[in-house]
Amino acid sequence: MFYLLSVREKVTFGGTMAEATDTFTNLGFDPDALRNKYREERDKRLRQDGNDQYIEVKGDFSRYVDDPYVEPGFSRESIDAEIEVIIIGGGFGGMLAAARLREIGIDDFRIIEKGGDFGGTWYWNRYPGASCDIESYVYFPLLEKTDFVPKQKYTNAPETLEYCGVIAEKYSLHENALLQTEVIATEWDEESGRWKVSTNRADNISAKYVVHSNGPLNRPKLPAIRGINDYKGHTFHTSRWDYAYTGGDSHGNLSGLADKKVAIIGTGATAVQCVPHLGAAAKELYVFQRTPSSIDVRNNQATDPNWMASQQNGWQDERRKNFESLMVGAPVKEDLVNDGWTEAFRNLFSGVRDLAPSKWRIGLWALLGPLNRDFYRLGFKQYVTKKVTDYMDLSRQMEIADFKKMEGIRARADEVVNDKDTAEALKPYYRQFCKRPCFHDEYLSTFNRANVTLVHTDGRGIDEITENGVIFEGTEYEVDCIIFATGFEVGTDYSRRAGYQIRGVDGKSISEKWADGLSTFHGMHSRGFPNAFFFGPAQSGFTATYTYSLDEQSVHLAHILGKARERGANRIEASERAETEWVKTIIEKARLTADFQEKCTPGYYNNEGNVNTKPQNNTYGGGPIEFFSLMEKWREQGNLDGLELT
Ligand code: NDP
Repeated sequence: MFYLLSVREKVTFGGTMAEATDTFTNLGFDPDALRNKYREERDKRLRQDGNDQYIEVKGDFSRYVDDPYVEPGFSRESIDAEIEVIIIGGGFGGMLAAARLREIGIDDFRIIEKGGDFGGTWYWNRYPGASCDIESYVYFPLLEKTDFVPKQKYTNAPETLEYCGVIAEKYSLHENALLQTEVIATEWDEESGRWKVSTNRADNISAKYVVHSNGPLNRPKLPAIRGINDYKGHTFHTSRWDYAYTGGDSHGNLSGLADKKVAIIGTGATAVQCVPHLGAAAKELYVFQRTPSSIDVRNNQATDPNWMASQQNGWQDERRKNFESLMVGAPVKEDLVNDGWTEAFRNLFSGVRDLAPSKWRIGLWALLGPLNRDFYRLGFKQYVTKKVTDYMDLSRQMEIADFKKMEGIRARADEVVNDKDTAEALKPYYRQFCKRPCFHDEYLSTFNRANVTLVHTDGRGIDEITENGVIFEGTEYEVDCIIFATGFEVGTDYSRRAGYQIRGVDGKSISEKWADGLSTFHGMHSRGFPNAFFFGPAQSGFTATYTYSLDEQSVHLAHILGKARERGANRIEASERAETEWVKTIIEKARLTADFQEKCTPGYYNNEGNVNTKPQNNTYGGGPIEFFSLMEKWREQGNLDGLELT
């Protein structure tokens, strides 16, 4: 969402003329009062320790990342092999990379995956209610190749895992997989021009290329709360759900909790989906909230197979482009997805379009420009752009549209939740895209259950964990089980999150190289790490439909490896010039979003409130559609400009 405000550059002109004043009157709320309230709510959550408020899941805490979905005791012979491409990670990114390599005839690859099967995020996150609220017709990649028909507009975890199996079968990926295997190090050997890849199964692999597709939200995080290790009851993180303890499955029916008092810590997108199931099953449920999520309408629907069958070739690409275009305010003829996401963005940008100045007004500015000093200072094009943006006051329009939307979301809490104080505590006071918007039709009503208590910590978080339970404001909540819905590491060191170190030319590690901020070319290459390819959102195009980004990255990867093959190249490395320029681009584009992020309540979207201390750590601020078309043009040039091939 960091690209949100780059819309300034994208709005098309020529809409109907309306007076700005109409938009700012008869609102039914006071924008200044809301602005103050948002600031107060942000300020009470700002903290010095940023990402250090969380502890790493290692040592005493490593049990939180044990795999509960496989039989313990797996072992296999270690392997000693020379392989063309090692892909680290068997989630959608790794699978797509493998699929695209197969398509261009590169079959000598292995996918190394720590889980017991493919699926990545969806392998680990099987908590009850786990589902995706990005429309399945855009979220599931390769639908036109697999002919799979998702059952509903919004899919769930079991169907997504099933779909991963479909892709794996179509591209025969299991035969290239090393499952239940963790990479522990990758090291470049200049002499042989190969990467040495070591694993926890004592494998000794030499690889020409390594693709790092280890997932942006793969490392669970735990809050560094006093006493967290003293608790004697049962405990786990949502991404390693313990069904042996709770009973049931991803669809719910947690019969094991019927006589249990349960605490869940955190109320982000994950908690929003599992709380209704916990509320329905537990004897007592305490939901510890630091910041409420925004809960919009979900409105899931069954897929019409005739509709799916009637789609023309290329429909999925068109639909994904259409969806992501709406997310950045780029003009589209029609809203194909037409759901809570697109409605939210249409709402944000519609006020802007209504205010667009007519062509005669732009003409007049151009004509009278020479009378203005700015005209000479800025030059013709920038002068007219400035006049247009001043006139439209875009950011104010968007803020008002956002206030309206969030007033609706807050009103929903009042409509659904019976207890007035609870309803009030569930109201989010920040702009909708400061945090991950949620869409759910049973979450709010769960708080009407007699066995469910919301413990609103008003931005502070819980105080302490004891042998018996959780303490907040002097009250100890004794529970049989604590579930951490506290999310995943985002802003920490790359290797810490990946779980392995990467050593490039002259033994320099990626942690050393990126200690003061990311440095890549197109987000995928980093000088000093030849033949290594990084998948992920950093310095790249970030989409709400994350699988779309991964798909584009896999197409890009296949293009580069295909070209390298054609040219008989053995070593691919970003040039110093290309990398420096790309970092500059990322920093410049990040400025467009800095103001928005600074005003946001803290969370992983804005580096826990420490905005832009390293602006190069952003995603591509021009938005994904602009990024993808930049990459497409780069590929069309065909000369791999910016890469040194030897
Ligand atoms: P999040 O990081 O979004 O949420 C973590 C939660 O833990 C927040 O509510 C946070 O509060 C809270 N928390 C952290 N520390 C404490 C503390 N000391 N005391 C009390 N509460 C605390 O993680 P999620 O797993 O919910 O979601 C991660 C991402 O995964 C989402 O943003 C989304 O991208 C994706 N996802 C998508 C889904 C979908 O498609 N519907 C479903 C689930 C996840 P605070 O907000 O104050 O920091």
